Amino acid sequence: MAGLDLITPVEYLKGVGPQKAELLKKELSIFTCGDLLFYFPFRHIDRTRFYKISEINAELPFIQVTGRLVSKELVGQKQAKRIVAQFKDETGTLELVWFQSLKWVNDNLITGQAYVAFGKPNHFNGTFSIVHPEMELLQQAQQKRGNQSLQPVYSSTEKLKKFGLDTKGIQKLQAVLLDSIAPALNENLPAFILEKYKLTDRRAALLNIHFPGSPQQLSAAERRIKFEELFFIQLELLNMKQARSLKFRGNIFDKAGEQLNTFYKERLPFDLTGAQKRVLREIRTDTQRGVQMNRLIQGDVGSGKTVVALMSMLLANGNGFQACMMAPTEILARQHYESLKAMAGADLVQIEILTGITKKKERTLLHERLENGEIDILIGTHALIEDKVKFRNLGMVVIDEQHRFGVEQRAKLWRKNVIPPHILVMTATPIPRTLAMTLYGDLDVSVIDELPPGRKPITTVHLYESQRLRMFGLMKTEIAKGRQVYLVYPLIKESEKLDLLFLEAGIEQLRYHFPLPDYQMSIVHGKMANADKDYEMERFVSGKTQIMVATTVIEVGVNVPNASVMIIENAERFGLSQLHQLRGRVGRGAEQSFCVLMSGNKLSKEAKLRLETMVRTNNGFEISEIDLELRGPGNLSGTQQSGTLNLKLADLTKDQVILQEARNTVIAIFEEDRLLQKPEHRLLQDYLDSRRSGISFDKIS
Ligand code: ADP
Ligand code: MG
Repeated sequence: MAGLDLITPVEYLKGVGPQKAELLKKELSIFTCGDLLFYFPFRHIDRTRFYKISEINAELPFIQVTGRLVSKELVGQKQAKRIVAQFKDETGTLELVWFQSLKWVNDNLITGQAYVAFGKPNHFNGTFSIVHPEMELLQQAQQKRGNQSLQPVYSSTEKLKKFGLDTKGIQKLQAVLLDSIAPALNENLPAFILEKYKLTDRRAALLNIHFPGSPQQLSAAERRIKFEELFFIQLELLNMKQARSLKFRGNIFDKAGEQLNTFYKERLPFDLTGAQKRVLREIRTDTQRGVQMNRLIQGDVGSGKTVVALMSMLLANGNGFQACMMAPTEILARQHYESLKAMAGADLVQIEILTGITKKKERTLLHERLENGEIDILIGTHALIEDKVKFRNLGMVVIDEQHRFGVEQRAKLWRKNVIPPHILVMTATPIPRTLAMTLYGDLDVSVIDELPPGRKPITTVHLYESQRLRMFGLMKTEIAKGRQVYLVYPLIKESEKLDLLFLEAGIEQLRYHFPLPDYQMSIVHGKMANADKDYEMERFVSGKTQIMVATTVIEVGVNVPNASVMIIENAERFGLSQLHQLRGRVGRGAEQSFCVLMSGNKLSKEAKLRLETMVRTNNGFEISEIDLELRGPGNLSGTQQSGTLNLKLADLTKDQVILQEARNTVIAIFEEDRLLQKPEHRLLQDYLDSRRSGISFDKIS
């Protein structure tokens, strides 16, 4: 088949057809031949290696064993009806079991014959077995084994399997595709890079990632493809960063301005920490250069980012510009709104809030006031980036908490003003360096690495269910001292019903130990109406209630300095950075604070490591590194939506070296030839052009 290229719709591939094409689209988002080609096997099976039966254990993946079929018999009734065969080599016996295709098995597998059995071993009732093994006569297998030793395994779905697109079926399609598409696979990396980093050429890499001739070829292919992935992300990010500093003028804030000065002299309730001052100086410098600022502030929970945000926005106001601040949730937006208003004072600047629940009438009015410049600072959720929200002259955007904003979303913000506003991204979960490079490679980074004075490190303990009374004891002691307590329950969509039951049971038990009227409780969970949430929240913030029972809606940002205990139920179900975030809700005042991690007795190895890490350290940077190692970047909160992290093969935990190589290469290229005009950089310019013209903007990479 000739004429196929990467953008040919997949239905034109021989063996696909409209029905399978539809399924490939729906199930795997494979639309084009290119999508299919880049649908990589998740592993390969080594078909050169044969196991002895005595070597088998249940941890092994798919393996193959040579042996003799010594017996087979039909056992069981109805659903449990199955054929069980004894398979023997000189070291032992293995059971082979079939629940389906019994007639075929019975007719075709011959006792006494030597076979190669292939499958995943299980351990059951003291014997090892393979269910539904693939069987091949030994003699045939020996004849057939040619040069293909590593077999690709693709993930598939139940629906695809029904239509013959199991791993074998996908293998076949890939083979056909590679035959006809290989000539169209042009190199996209300049030769000098291939040479410098000893990378395989693209065509060979794509062939070998599917059907490698040897483990060496496979790893060379993987290295090449990972490099390519990371390289182009870096190329794009750094290009964007440089393009901005060349092209995007920035508003010049040439004075501190009246608002900032007044705030600093008269209203700032504490002395700034050294780190806060440093970051503010950096922001001052950035905003005087005439170039758009794009700065990421990493500061651990409680390091005092909010006041930095406020002062940055006042700086914009004092220079004649509006500012806005975006938070990830309603509650947070509301809290920022309240606290910024209280901190700044109502007379200094006009602060308003816009979120998804703002009523239409109010909204219209807000839009109007924004456009005629009556509002100085607008706080809100994602609702702020909607196109219909127009500012008169937006000069500063603060994006608070979490890396929930990808490059594309930020790009949307730049268009909110003729001269794009300065942008400040604040993350509370420190991001590991590799992730920051990939997600925020286009930003300058500041770190607030100092906590306000007088904070005592939070004491964290891990208690098992049997130690629950100790937890109640701690709560009582702290409440008696006038402190407040958070109690957090997991609430996860998949197990929502059970979680809610658990939450209710927990509340009942709490009521028993902490009876009215001595103890007052606030309850906040995701199923409540916003007004009720706010009401409950308010009661806790103002100290009317001592205990706040909540699901993870309070995860980020709420600030109640008087709270000194954070109890996390089923702590083993939370991710590390989430636990760290939650813990950061306490320890905000001068008194000693505590975090109690409650868990069941049975813990997985990973869960144990998470809880141990929490007990051992309060350092968010250290925690984020471990989190990345445990979960991989795709699962870190917020990164899922980010297109840049749509990595097929590269792994930010394991491939740090390649990432660094790729980034350094891009930096060196831009230093030498910023506009990519040299002939050897032609390919790179082409790549950027194709991205700019919007071709497959979301599809490739
Ligand atoms: P985060 O960085 O997690 O957003 P916040 O901005 O909410 O932290 O600040 C946490 C608490 O520390 C708040 O109560 C805030 O008022 C207080 N705070 C911030 N900066 C200082 C400082 N320099 N000195 C004393 N307290 C501070
Ligand atoms: Mg905050």
